[in-house]
Amino acid sequence: MLQQYLKLLDNPFEIFKRADTLREETVGSEVTYVVNRNINFTDICVNRCKFCSFSNRRKYKLTLEEIEEKVREAVDYGCTEVCIQGGLLPDADLEFYKSILNSVREVSEDIHIHAFSPMEIYHAAKNSVMDSRDVIKELKNAGLNSIPGTAAEILDDRIRKQICPQKISTQEWIDVIVSAHEEGIPTTATMMYGHIESWEDRINHLNTIKKIQQSTGGFTEFIPLPFMWKNNELGKIAKGSSGFEDLLVIAISRIILHPEITNIQASWVKLGTKLVQAALFTGANDVGGTLMEENISKLAGSSSGEFLSIEELRQIIERAGREPRQRDTVYNIINEK
Ligand code: SF4
Repeated sequence: MLQQYLKLLDNPFEIFKRADTLREETVGSEVTYVVNRNINFTDICVNRCKFCSFSNRRKYKLTLEEIEEKVREAVDYGCTEVCIQGGLLPDADLEFYKSILNSVREVSEDIHIHAFSPMEIYHAAKNSVMDSRDVIKELKNAGLNSIPGTAAEILDDRIRKQICPQKISTQEWIDVIVSAHEEGIPTTATMMYGHIESWEDRINHLNTIKKIQQSTGGFTEFIPLPFMWKNNELGKIAKGSSGFEDLLVIAISRIILHPEITNIQASWVKLGTKLVQAALFTGANDVGGTLMEENISKLAGSSSGEFLSIEELRQIIERAGREPRQRDTVYNIINEK
């Protein structure tokens, strides 16, 4: 299969066509978006990932009151989700992560809490001398609804050792994700590409995601994330992907992950709005969320902005000739129009 996919890459326009046909057959012409808010509660981090432009810049940590205020603003705007992630505070344990969930629930019983990457779950487990699965169960009881599948980068330890040596290993990432799925917590799946990895590594990564989905069914979507090269160490030797390559990654993701994963997201923060429109014709069917604030990509050189209003997101989709639909985090359609 690997050789077959590598060969396919020799004919990009054939890949685009196949991916677009699969997208049309699987999800039709509707394009989804989510009304959500990002909250990055701290940039303080014990890790030193070489692609990270976010950690330890300002050395800030939001208070629980500040988090509550941001959730209130999100609720007022009509957000259905808060996406909460942060750096790894040295002493952050289960109780710390639970206190964040409790502060969200103080403001809203209903808002979907999409929070804490597998790296953060692992960190909480280590600091609390607990098993990751037990941490997930406790967080679920405290109101956690789903987990971002970030920290996946490229699921290959040879590459991880070079770009993020302190991060969880491939197997540890898989273990946290599978435990979450088995405990009834869905996750997204991601891949950060465009640095030192090859097409072979990308295809292997996609096949790993596919296998997990075949066994658990717990992924809601796949989000390819191009490496942003500004203000980080890895950027000295890698300058990221071209726009054409971004479209190819979207397309090959649609093809390899079919039929297990039906939703492929083109991230407007990473790609910019015009490339997102193009990606809707190479396999993508989702444009991500309103975000309201975005710290991580901006510091790494993204110039796409931090917030797109609901109207702007809908216009981007409509101007590409497609039908916008608001969804919730787990892809239930909220507004039929
Ligand atoms: S990517 Fe995450 S874990 Fe790595 S240094 Fe940045 S904030 Fe820390």
